[in-house]
This record gives sequence, C-alpha cells and structure tokens, in this order.
Amino acid sequence: MRRGSNLPAVGTYNQSLVLDLIRRAPDGLSRVELAARTGLSAQTLSNVTRRLSDEGLIGEAGKVIAGPGKPRTLLALNAGSRFAVGVHLDPAVDTLVVIDLSGAVIAQAEHPPRLQGSGRELVGSIAASVSALIDRAGVSRERVLGIGVAAPGPLDAERGRLLNPPLLTPWHGVEVRDELQAASGLAIALEKDVTAAIVGEMWFDHEDDLVDATFLYYGAGIGAGLSVAGAPVRGRTGNAGNIAHLIVDPTGPPCSCGLRGCLGPSVDPRRLLADAGLAGPSTGPLGGEDGPPAPDTRRELDRLCRRAARGEPRAVAVMDRTARHLARAVVEVNNLLDSNAVVIGGPVWARLSPVLSELFGDRLASGAAAGATTSTRPIAVRPSRLGVDIAAVGAACLVLDQAFVARPADLLITT
Ligand SMILES: [Zn+2]
Repeated sequence: MRRGSNLPAVGTYNQSLVLDLIRRAPDGLSRVELAARTGLSAQTLSNVTRRLSDEGLIGEAGKVIAGPGKPRTLLALNAGSRFAVGVHLDPAVDTLVVIDLSGAVIAQAEHPPRLQGSGRELVGSIAASVSALIDRAGVSRERVLGIGVAAPGPLDAERGRLLNPPLLTPWHGVEVRDELQAASGLAIALEKDVTAAIVGEMWFDHEDDLVDATFLYYGAGIGAGLSVAGAPVRGRTGNAGNIAHLIVDPTGPPCSCGLRGCLGPSVDPRRLLADAGLAGPSTGPLGGEDGPPAPDTRRELDRLCRRAARGEPRAVAVMDRTARHLARAVVEVNNLLDSNAVVIGGPVWARLSPVLSELFGDRLASGAAAGATTSTRPIAVRPSRLGVDIAAVGAACLVLDQAFVARPADLLITT
C-alpha cells in the first residue's frame, strides 16, 4: 500500500507480473511465451494463470499454431472484469471517468467545480456524482476496484488530504481520502494531478518508451509529471513536479512569488486570452495562490486557436510566445533529468495543440531554448495518448496501477 492510498494490491507479485504481460499483448500470449518472458516454471505459471482465470481477469482467446506440436492456447485480458473510477478536481471543471481494465473510458462526466460548502458536503457531492456515473456505465459496484482522485498540489500524501491548492480554497485541508471512502464505500488513491497524468501515460506505454520520461501538464496550472527507472516520481511528500516558478521570461508578468516571468503566470490561459483580446469571463490576478476561481476558458481557448490558425497576428504572437515559454521549460526540465521522452498534454494543451504543437516543436529546435539545452541528442517529444481528460483517466489508472502492476517491493510481502 502506498502513501495517499488505501488500495489493497490484488493478487501476488507473480499474478501481477503475468497479468501485466498479457494486458500489454493485444492479441494475447500463450503459456509458452509467458514462461519464456517471466522465467517462471511451467507448473508455477499454470497455477498463476488458473488463478487469474478463476478471478475472471483473463480468458482464452483462441489457439495459434506455432511449429510442430499441438496448437497453443492464447490467453487475453478480460477487460470488462474490473473497473476503476477517476476524478479530476480542477479549478475550471471537475471531470469523472470510469475505465475498464484495458484503460478504455466507458463513461465520462463533467461538472462545474464544487467550490462551496463544507469539506464533507464537497466530498459528498463528488461521491454522488461517482455513484451516478457508475450506474450510467452499467457496471456492477463489486467490480469497481476503487476511485483515483487527481488534484492540484500541494497535498498531504500521508494523510490523504489537500493542503492549499491554488484556486480551490474550499478544498483546503479536506481529508479527501478518508472522507470519500466513507461517503462512497470504495478504496481511494489520492495523487497530485501531474503524477496521475504520468501514471496514466505509463499504463498505456506498451513499448517502455516512458521508463524515463517527463510529462508536461498544461491545464489551469502547469506542472511536470516525472518517471525515473519505470516508476512515477512522487517525491518525499507526494508533491514533486512543481515547475510553475521556473523563470522563462525575465521581462514577463509579475508572479505571486515576487519575481517576474515565472512559467505559471507566463502561460496562464487567462493571460493568453487577455493578451489576444479575448479575455475570459473573469480575469483575476494571475499566478496568485488565492485568487478567484479560474473561469471555464474552454470556449475562448478554442477561439484563440482558430484565430491563430487563420493567421491573425495578435493570436499568432500569443501562441508563439507561449510555445517559446513551454519550450524553455521543457529544456530546463530535460537538462535536469535527461529523460528518454517528453510527453506533453493536459486540457489547455489539448485545445491549443492544433496550432501550438508545431510552434512548440520549432521553438524547441531553435532559438533560446535550443541554446540552453545540454542534452546530447534531440529531445523526443510526443503528444499525450490520453487527450483532454488525461488527469481523470490518469487518476483511474492509479487504481489499476496499484492493484495490478508488479513492483519488486511487493516481493517482500508476498509469497
Ligand atoms: Zn513565481
């Protein structure tokens, strides 16, 4: 069991190991292939696959003829055997998803952020939305492993509570893990949104490209989710990945920290809209820790993107400046970590990427950002696989990850 979570692991290390290999093979694997990949004996493997089959987690998926001898039976994931719920608490919009064991989203809902009431009322409202979504998904509750919750930091991973995330004042100090478990009856994993995002990307990374990777998360806030040696980096207190105060533009806007040109306020979606003449419903102080709630800027961001795509100079300038700032941040983080890959995504990125993606690539390859790079090879950047709901899907993947991913540490407590 990890900090911030009360999720029990499902099955033994060997079961997790075998299940992980099977789920990564879309066409299924035979017992012979599994034995070769795990090093387990035929007898042990037979016991493990029987238990997974008894649990309904895997099933037979036809036979394949491979050389002489009798055809081999393929074992494949039974994706509908278990489910997980993901909740993303965000100042702009709350997103909920139900995913199956393959990570596919089978139900999704969005709600205006809950920003009024006591902690218990806020959590009760989330629990009611989760319950409604599980019903809508047509999933039996017994098959739901738990709820993953992704929230902006800082949070107290040990106690499973939010501390003082910006723009979410009513949630400050709320014991999300224990309160939501009490309200929903389900096990809870609470994680910082950027960490949930990298866990989600890793769940879908069947080629091991993200063993050492950085996820640049661009939403209402900006942060970095990190993976090193195949495991997400949570840090000592669960709050790793804060890059909001990285200075990307010494002449940029003032920041709540007292300096100018920090990444957070420089790429704040509200600032982009204001600079493009498309101010959102409200423009509070930028980069502040306790400003008014972030407005829902989705429609305005789409408008900004369309204007830039048409070549309107003001919108293009805003996009180009944002691309430059993001590129600078990616270079700095990559200089620190020397990652194998940089994944970029998040709700704001997803909306702006039709234009921002190419500008970002250009800025990464040239200009000041390139001058700062100390990497000995080009930075490999790719878009997120999880789209606009990345933090919610990542939160649900936390549940699957903790239930099913085999980690060497688990060997110490299992037989
Ligand atoms: Zn700052």
